[in-house]
Amino acid sequence: IVARATHPQGSVIRVRGIPIGGEQIQVIGGPCSVETQAQMDESAAAVAAAGCRMMRGGAFKPRTSPYAFQGLGVEGLEFFQRSARQHNLPIVTELMDVRMLDTFIEHEVDVIQIGARNMQNFDLLKEVGRVNKPVILKRGLSATISEWLMSAEYIAAGGNHNIIFCERGIRTFETAYRNVLDITAIPVIKRETHLPVIVDPSHAGGKAWMVPALAQAAVAAGADGLLIEMHPNPCEAWCDADQALTPAELKQLMTTLGAIAQAV
Ligand code: PEP
Ligand code: MN
Repeated sequence: IVARATHPQGSVIRVRGIPIGGEQIQVIGGPCSVETQAQMDESAAAVAAAGCRMMRGGAFKPRTSPYAFQGLGVEGLEFFQRSARQHNLPIVTELMDVRMLDTFIEHEVDVIQIGARNMQNFDLLKEVGRVNKPVILKRGLSATISEWLMSAEYIAAGGNHNIIFCERGIRTFETAYRNVLDITAIPVIKRETHLPVIVDPSHAGGKAWMVPALAQAAVAAGADGLLIEMHPNPCEAWCDADQALTPAELKQLMTTLGAIAQAV
C-alpha cells in the first residue's frame, strides 16, 4: 500500500493544517526529553522563534540503561502540551507501549513517533495502524530499506496511511560518530513510496556541530523535513546533551535551509 505506484504524485500529510511532503520543508525542533515546565516553555518559545512549525520532545524515553532517566511519562505530555499550545505548535512524541496509545490520544498528541528501537515492534505498529493520527516511523538501528518498508506496511494495512519515514542514521563499522546518516535512503524511499521522508541529523551524528552539515545534506537530497534536537541550555540537558543545538544555532540553521530546498 505504501508503494509509489498507488499514488504516483506523492502524498502530503497534514498535521493541524501543516503539510509534510510537497513544496515546503518542515522542521520539527525541540529537546530530546521533556524535563520541566520551564524547560519546555523556553524550548517552545525558541522553536517558534527559529521558524519551526512543529515541536518534538520525549516523555517516554527508550534509554539503553534502565538506570538512566526514563522520561516524565504522562506528566511530561502535560508539560509539553501546555508549552506548545502557547505557540500553536503541533507536538511530536514517542510512543513505546501500546498501553499508552489511548493516553496519547486523550492528550491530543498530534504526531506519534515510533522510535528506531521499536521499528519492528509489530504489535505496536498494528495498533498505530488503527488510529488516524500521523505517525513518524524511524528507521531501525540496523534495518534494511525493505524491512523499513514492511514496517510501514504494518501501519498502512490497518488503515492508517499517514506515515512519515524518518532516517536517523544506521549502525556500520564506523565508530567515529554515533550513526551513519544514510543519505541514499532519501531518494530510495521517495522513489519506492508515495510518502514523505524526513531526516533526524541529531541522532545520526550525535554531536551538535555535525547537525548543520547533515541537515543541509538531507534537504539537498530531497528530504521533506527534519527532526532536530534543541535545548535551551544543552550542557544541562538530561539526555543527549552533546547533540542538542542551542536556540541560536537552530535559528541560524533555519536561515540556510530555504535556499537549499529551492535549489533542488
Ligand atoms: C528520539 O528521537 O528521541 C530517539 C530516541 O530517537 P531514535 O529512536 O532514532 O534513537
Ligand atoms: Mn535524543
